[in-house]
Amino acid sequence: MKTILFLILVLLTFNKINSQTSGIECGTITPSDKWESEFSNLIKNFSNDFTEYTIPVIFHVIHGGQPAGTFPNIDQGQINSQITVLNQDFAGTGFNYNTYPANAFIQWAINQNLPPVNLDSLGRVKIANIYIKFCLSEKDSSGNPLTEPGINRINFNTYGWQNPNSFTTPQSLRAFFDGVVKPATVWDVRKYLNIWVSDKNSAVQFTGYATLPPFSTLPGISGNGEGTDSTDGIWSYCSAVGSPLFYPGGIYASPNVRGRTITHEAGHYLGLRHIWGDGSCLTDYCTDTPPAFTSNTGFPVYPINPGSCSNPSNSPNGEMFMNFMDYSADPAKYMFTYDQSVRMQTAMVYSPFRNQLGNHGLCNAVIGINNESSINTGGYILYQNYPNPFNPETEISFSIPEQTRVIIRIYNSLGVETVTLLNEIKLPGNHNILWNASKFPSGIYYYKLITEKISFSKKMVLIK
Ligand SMILES: [Zn+2]
Repeated sequence: MKTILFLILVLLTFNKINSQTSGIECGTITPSDKWESEFSNLIKNFSNDFTEYTIPVIFHVIHGGQPAGTFPNIDQGQINSQITVLNQDFAGTGFNYNTYPANAFIQWAINQNLPPVNLDSLGRVKIANIYIKFCLSEKDSSGNPLTEPGINRINFNTYGWQNPNSFTTPQSLRAFFDGVVKPATVWDVRKYLNIWVSDKNSAVQFTGYATLPPFSTLPGISGNGEGTDSTDGIWSYCSAVGSPLFYPGGIYASPNVRGRTITHEAGHYLGLRHIWGDGSCLTDYCTDTPPAFTSNTGFPVYPINPGSCSNPSNSPNGEMFMNFMDYSADPAKYMFTYDQSVRMQTAMVYSPFRNQLGNHGLCNAVIGINNESSINTGGYILYQNYPNPFNPETEISFSIPEQTRVIIRIYNSLGVETVTLLNEIKLPGNHNILWNASKFPSGIYYYKLITEKISFSKKMVLIK
C-alpha cells in the first residue's frame, strides 16, 4: 500500500514538473540571431522618440457553421473586450497593475545602474505606457463598411478545410494556419493587424502564436518566425480572447481569462521576446527585465526565484513574472517595461510590415480627431493641439519640469519636415505655441516635441 502511494506521489510530482517545464503556452518561433542584430542596430538609432499609434485590427473568426456567440464562433462583445484589454495593457493600466509591489525590483535596478527613464517615482522598474493603441477596423480592404466592426467570419466547411481542432500537435496546427488558412483569408498585412481565432485540440498546449516584424527589405529571409505577406499576424485560441470583466457574456477558459494571450502575442508581433530569453537566463535584449531561469506559470508571489540567475544577476528581487512576456496566468501579468516599449516603438518605425499601420482611416475615430489625450513621461507632457481639426491656426501646448532646449518640428503625412516651429531654451512650466498653416494644403500632419531628454509626436488634421 505504501509503495503504491509512493508511486502515485512520484507520478503526481513528475506530472507537475513535466507540465511546468514543457508546458507551451505560446507557439511563437524564437527569433534568429540575424533578425535580432538587424533589430538591435535600428534600436540604437531610436533613442526616446515616441509616437502615439492606433493599429487597426481584423479578427478572422474560424468556425464550423455555429451561430455567432456559440463556441467557437465568438461574438462581437467578446472581441470588443479584447480591444479594451489591449488598450489598457499597452497603456500600463491593465487589470491588476495596481498590485505591483511597492518595492518591486528597486534594489536590482540600483545594482544594475538603470537610468531614471526606466524607473518610476518610487525607483521601481517602471510599468511603461507603450503609446500604441488598437481599434477594430470598420472597413474591409476594399473600403466597404463591415457589418460587424473588426470581424471577418469564416466557415471552414465552406473552404473544404479540416476542423482546426483536429490538429493534435503545435507544429501541425501552425502549419495548417500558416500554409492554408492564413494565405486564403489574410487582409493586407501592411494595413491591418490580422488576428485569427479558432478552436484547438486539447493536446495543443499553446493558446497563441505570432509572427515577428520583419526588418529586412526582403521579409522572411532572416528567419522562419517573421511574418510574410500571407502569414503575418497572430493566432489565438478563441476562448483566450477577451475578458469577462468587460464582457461577461463571452466564452472563456481558465486560466486565460483576462485576454493576456493576445497582449503577449501582440508583444511578439511588435518585436518582443520572452523574458527568459528562450533559454536559461538568456537575454531578451532589454536592460530593465531581470534575467529569468525559465518561464513562470500560475500565480507567483513577489519576489520569485531571487538568485536563479547569476551573470547577469537577478538578485535580490528575482524574476519579473508579472511581465506580459512571461507565462504566468493571465491575472498575474500586468506590465511591459520601458525598454520593451522602445523595441515596439522601433518596430513601428522601421519594419516594412508595421510602419504604415498607424496611418489609416479604418476605424471609427479618424486619427487626430476626438483625441484629447496627452503624452506624459516624467513630467514632460505634450498635449493634443487645439483646435483639431483646424483651419488655418492651431495651438500646440506642452509642459516641461525643468529648463531645457525645446524644438517643435512639423512633418507632413509622408514624414517630410515642413517647418521648425520652435527651437529655444524654455523655462519649466506650460507653454503654448501657435501654428498658422495658411500656406499648407489639407491633410494629416505630425508635430514632434524634442527636448534634451525625450521626444514625442502627435498627429493633427488640417481641413480647408
Ligand atoms: Zn510568447
